[in-house]
Amino acid sequence: MTLAIHALHLGPLDNNTYLVVHEGTRETAVVDVGFGPEAVLETIARRKLVVRLLLNTHAHYDHVAGMRAIQQACGGDYYLHPADRPLLDHLAEQGAAFDFPPAEPPDDAHDLADRQSIALAGEAIEVIHTPGHSPGGVCFRHGRWLISGDTLFLGSIGRTDLPGGSFEELERAIRERLFVLGDAVQVHPGHGPETTIGEERMHNPFVGENARLA
Ligand SMILES: [Zn+2]
Ligand SMILES: [Zn+2]
Repeated sequence: MTLAIHALHLGPLDNNTYLVVHEGTRETAVVDVGFGPEAVLETIARRKLVVRLLLNTHAHYDHVAGMRAIQQACGGDYYLHPADRPLLDHLAEQGAAFDFPPAEPPDDAHDLADRQSIALAGEAIEVIHTPGHSPGGVCFRHGRWLISGDTLFLGSIGRTDLPGGSFEELERAIRERLFVLGDAVQVHPGHGPETTIGEERMHNPFVGENARLA
């Protein structure tokens, strides 16, 4: 049985929170909760999900601020790439910079490593390190889907003007580590609508085929 993805669209920045669910056991990984943890908890309760993992694609406020509330209500092991620890440690300052309410990070962060395989109900979720939007940005892949965080969007890419950002790194990560996954892979980004690797490889104005000619 594969792992299914359910998306919740929450908050003023159109963030996507993902629930990765093993439909047999209802064991669940919760990915990126910034705004509206109450809505995430309501969905977890209504679907009778068993939270095992709390995963962050990166540690920007809009992806992390609600993780502690999920951890306190449901438990689950929390994972983040260590290169984003400094961002996690400065969550309050990140929020203040954008006039968002203060927030505390989740406890007991475990480190993610590139190409690590995380088990959920016996299924493997692969970690792909894709720095550029933030130093510790990662994507999560299972079968035909990819959770891309703020690395790759429909027709766009993550901003690279925040601390630790680099367009060159982001471009290289997307072209060398994501486009090779195959055109059929469904991409579930941190903001906005979903897309596919093929669509972005061909048409993305920043990193797609046409961008090379510009
Ligand atoms: Zn971000
Ligand atoms: Zn974001």
